[in-house]
Amino acid sequence: MSQRLDLWGEAMRSLRTCRKCGWAGTGALCVTGESFGDGVELDCPRCRGRCGFAQYSIFTSDGDLSRVERAADSEVAPSSGHR
Ligand SMILES: [Zn+2]
Repeated sequence: MSQRLDLWGEAMRSLRTCRKCGWAGTGALCVTGESFGDGVELDCPRCRGRCGFAQYSIFTSDGDLSRVERAADSEVAPSSGHR
């Protein structure tokens, strides 16, 4: 049985607040900032302040954590945040 750890989805659904300007919204409304090996920074859409971090979802096979696939690459365009 494969299992999906929907870390990305959780990050998108969770509420974020910006300490700089007071903006509040779900992670899905944030713009993505710097990307790291296992996730991306979430930035405020208003002032680009840091709102947190979103980790990519992880898929496991038979509970084998060494077989990890990252799913969210296609969802994260480098220049996202522009509409
Ligand atoms: Zn802000």
